[in-house]
Amino acid sequence: MLLIPCPWCGKRAQTEFTYRGDATVERPDLADSDSQWYDYVYTRDNPRGEHTEWWHHTGGCRKWFKVRRNTWTHEVISSEPPVRD
Ligand SMILES: [Zn+2]
Repeated sequence: MLLIPCPWCGKRAQTEFTYRGDATVERPDLADSDSQWYDYVYTRDNPRGEHTEWWHHTGGCRKWFKVRRNTWTHEVISSEPPVRD
């Protein structure tokens, strides 16, 4: 079983969490083209190796955070709270 380190609760079983998607995708500006918006909404890479993902602690503190994880080995490298600009 995968253990996910929540920044607030510590390591917990994966069953307490919900994967919420790619954390590297950046939202386009409103004036950007339809194809940029299409890619933002529908197109995702399927990386093999280290990747940054959004996770939600649905069975715990209910906070969102980022997890750096190797999709090939399932090693969790780090986790951190979201940062607002
Ligand atoms: Zn938590």
